[in-house]
Amino acid sequence: MAIVFDDTKSINDYLKKPESHPESFAALYKRQAAGLQLVSDDMEQERKEQEKMAKLREKSFERKRKLLYDNLDLILRHRDEILATPRYADIDVHYALKGGGCYIGPLLTARQFNIAGTLVNINFSLGSLLELWDSDQYKVKCKCGGTAVVRYFSGSPLSGSSVATAFCPKCKEEIHGIRNRSFGDYYGISLTKFYENIVAFAKNVIAKWGIAEAEFEKKKVEGRASRWSGVGYEFHGDGTACSLETLINELRMGEI
Ligand SMILES: [Zn+2]
Repeated sequence: MAIVFDDTKSINDYLKKPESHPESFAALYKRQAAGLQLVSDDMEQERKEQEKMAKLREKSFERKRKLLYDNLDLILRHRDEILATPRYADIDVHYALKGGGCYIGPLLTARQFNIAGTLVNINFSLGSLLELWDSDQYKVKCKCGGTAVVRYFSGSPLSGSSVATAFCPKCKEEIHGIRNRSFGDYYGISLTKFYENIVAFAKNVIAKWGIAEAEFEKKKVEGRASRWSGVGYEFHGDGTACSLETLINELRMGEI
């Protein structure tokens, strides 16, 4: 019998995956006696469906990324209007900025939180992206005379070196090989902007819950609270979210 060592993976790969830990013999015996699989067919079906939906979402994000840059001149012309309009500023554009570095992995532009069984997605917003592009770090002079914006960067947090790609809204050309800029600044500025989105989400929920409590109290005092009413009934969101597609259509119509 030959013992084969699998050295294609580091110990860290195993430590990251708790499901790869072998089960005890007693647990295995009990499970097999009960005729149970470690991963049931239902679990496998769920995994496949989630994978399919994720692939479809990825395709949709790629389409939106192209749409955003194709219309970047239009969007930048309406920068102030977008920032002043929450339903525009809040649009998810996490796919617009890509980057990352050795040791630290891809740039964080989206996070999902499981809060009491409800999945909450917090994404890099259009407002944050426009503010990010205000910084000199993310601006590049284009040979056409226009100002291009960085949409991809990679580098190393150890050496601080970086290479970036920018897109010019004026001539619609991509500028490659932008060097001699601090990797830490790219990473730091974008991460700070993203964290602002998380803070904005939390503050928004707290404020809306405060309004709901006050509204319910008022109803109770005025004797308008019915048997089925409660604070949950008074809790409301921001209304219908605006899509990138709707924003572009509304901006175009506004310019006629
Ligand atoms: Zn240009």
